[in-house]
Amino acid sequence: MPTPDGDSIGRAGELALIEALFHRQRELPGDVRLGVGDDAAVLAAAGTDDWVAAVDTVIDGVHALPGDDASALGWKAVAVNVSDLAAMGAEPRHALLAASLPAALGRDRAEALADGLHAALGEWGVALVGGDTTASAPLSLSLTLLGRAPEGTCMRRDGARPGDTVYVTGTLGDSAAGLALLSDPPPEWLAAYDWLVERHRRPRPPLAFGRGIRGAASAAIDVSDGLVADLGHIARASAVGIEIDPDRLPLSAPMGEWAWATGIDPARYALAGGEDFELAFTAGEDAFEAMHRAKYTADTRFTAVGRVTAERPGEVYGDGVPTDGGWDHFAPDGDR
Ligand code: ADP
Ligand code: MG
Repeated sequence: MPTPDGDSIGRAGELALIEALFHRQRELPGDVRLGVGDDAAVLAAAGTDDWVAAVDTVIDGVHALPGDDASALGWKAVAVNVSDLAAMGAEPRHALLAASLPAALGRDRAEALADGLHAALGEWGVALVGGDTTASAPLSLSLTLLGRAPEGTCMRRDGARPGDTVYVTGTLGDSAAGLALLSDPPPEWLAAYDWLVERHRRPRPPLAFGRGIRGAASAAIDVSDGLVADLGHIARASAVGIEIDPDRLPLSAPMGEWAWATGIDPARYALAGGEDFELAFTAGEDAFEAMHRAKYTADTRFTAVGRVTAERPGEVYGDGVPTDGGWDHFAPDGDR
């Protein structure tokens, strides 16, 4: 039990908490006329740009192991939304945060949470302009992210065409491997495992790359629920089939090491593991130049993993590709 006024946030007033944890940014970008502290934030309208909006929630014990590193939870609240905007090719600008903090939350965890949150806001240049704070359990952060993109240019899920190639950025399955390692640490901990755990705790969506392929890719999505599940959204929205070649899935060296040590099939993790927050996208040959320019300017690698077909519309298929997709919060067994 936390002591009444010592190491939990329970006794701190709501406004003092908001000040300490969330109102850390003192210099706001020019398009914020009014940020934290009033009834609502006021943002300058964005010329002819489109507004792009996304909201995602991270919950202690659901999106992170219960009681795991609170700074990672704060980081993730931002990163998961940045990932959505990366998939649209948009530039994130402003965030609103609805925070549910258990009164018994330790001050150290609250501080760590705010540190992770602000590190991620800084990483992607996002201004936190408002929110809401309630005392309730479990610890959960629901962040609304607003961003911009030039009028009519955002990438969508419904533009894939037969003949396009399917690509993914970075490597796949690392986050699921990191989670497995945290849940059930092996007796012999290899240095490579720290990298996998970090991929799980502090994902870094390829935001600059997403902007770089805007206008060139025919469809895009972020890989949050697992490659097969997420490509399934493109397949259905675009009414096309997607054939994956599992031999071409990009795997990291630490993933290879872990698979070798445990005998698990890394392709299974790469196909169905969630939370990598990489981008999956489709593009025709005409996109080649823009894709390669984005690769070098954003320092983001990508790999061709399959092709868009006219056969089997709405399906993702290929040798050894599981049909059960990826993570679904409402799946009967709540399992991958
Ligand atoms: P109101 O009662 O007008 O909604 P609150 O007392 O809830 O105001 O919040 C005070 C100010 O602090 C508001 O500007 C609100 O946007 C901001 N705020 C509250 N919680 C958060 C949070 N978790 N993150 C960022 N800003 C917050
Ligand atoms: Mg309020």
